[in-house]
Amino acid sequence: MDLKFASIYYSQQGQILETTEIGSHHISLREWSDEVKRLARERDAIILAHNYQRPEIQDVADHVGDSLALSRIAAQSSASTIVFAGVYFMAETAKILAPERTVLIPEPRAGCSLADSIDADQLREWKSQHPGAVVVAYVNTSAEVKAESDLCCTSANAVEIVAGIPSDQEVLFLPDQFLGAHVQRATKRENMHIWMGECHVHAGISPQDLRRKAAAAPESELFIHPECGCATPALWLSGTDDLPAERTHVLSTGGMLERARTTRARSVLVATETGMLHQLRKANPSVQWEPVNAKAECVYMKMTTPEVLLRCLRDGTTEVEVDAEIATRARRAVEAMIAVGASSLGGE
Ligand code: SF4
Repeated sequence: MDLKFASIYYSQQGQILETTEIGSHHISLREWSDEVKRLARERDAIILAHNYQRPEIQDVADHVGDSLALSRIAAQSSASTIVFAGVYFMAETAKILAPERTVLIPEPRAGCSLADSIDADQLREWKSQHPGAVVVAYVNTSAEVKAESDLCCTSANAVEIVAGIPSDQEVLFLPDQFLGAHVQRATKRENMHIWMGECHVHAGISPQDLRRKAAAAPESELFIHPECGCATPALWLSGTDDLPAERTHVLSTGGMLERARTTRARSVLVATETGMLHQLRKANPSVQWEPVNAKAECVYMKMTTPEVLLRCLRDGTTEVEVDAEIATRARRAVEAMIAVGASSLGGE
């Protein structure tokens, strides 16, 4: 089947208003979805989609979640093929955890500006300046950087992981400076060095935006999802006077969805990539869900279009490979990450 979607438009509530197609075939979204599922069955493939994927990709996936939840599912799945609709380091992490499985990424050019802020050579040089330090790497890193690290973490379990390191040992924390600042404040650790990386895509969710939006909507709750680089400035700010604690909720994806179903707030400001709004609007359509910054879109996440996902399943492209020796070294750090904080995370 040869189809191309030029664009798909959504209403404020996340409903599809219109589809536009180019190419020789006309196909409805339902037909596309049926075809994707048929091809996935044929390949014995499971489709995992990150929360920041386009709504139609989230809707066709077997599981939607943050990178930690999806890593866990990838590790436990019995499907012979994992299709990871996300960015490259996430698909690499799935391959590290499930080396015997075929891992496909629909769009291999989907990178991550935060992961790109440090490479393995830079990390080796940093380590040489701090011999004996424990290296804690945020999951948004390449396989090579994970292989040079002792422990991986997500924003949801970073504090717990760093708190578990003996207090007399130096810590090198990378690559997200905002998450690092939050962890340092929470653990009161002085022997912790932080790499000054950041997610450039979401520099748009600024402390100023947060303060302004929170002040302009005093009735609104504020949900901060800590699972991607874009939200870590908000995470850092949430412990200060700028964001009142009674209105501010730092929540994992599962926690966010759980609270979405029960909140009494009429409106909620959401500080994360705008893709998360799709899940929240589905969970509770009666709430007015507002992004703190509507332009906070990860261009890399949005590279996986319906056409690209279909091609991936039809042609088996693009397979993710991780060098076996690098994967073995990286796996120790990643397994430590998925073992910590399971009870505090709601998964999808
Ligand atoms: S939102 Fe930022 S940190 Fe998250 S995948 Fe995109 S570029 Fe990376």
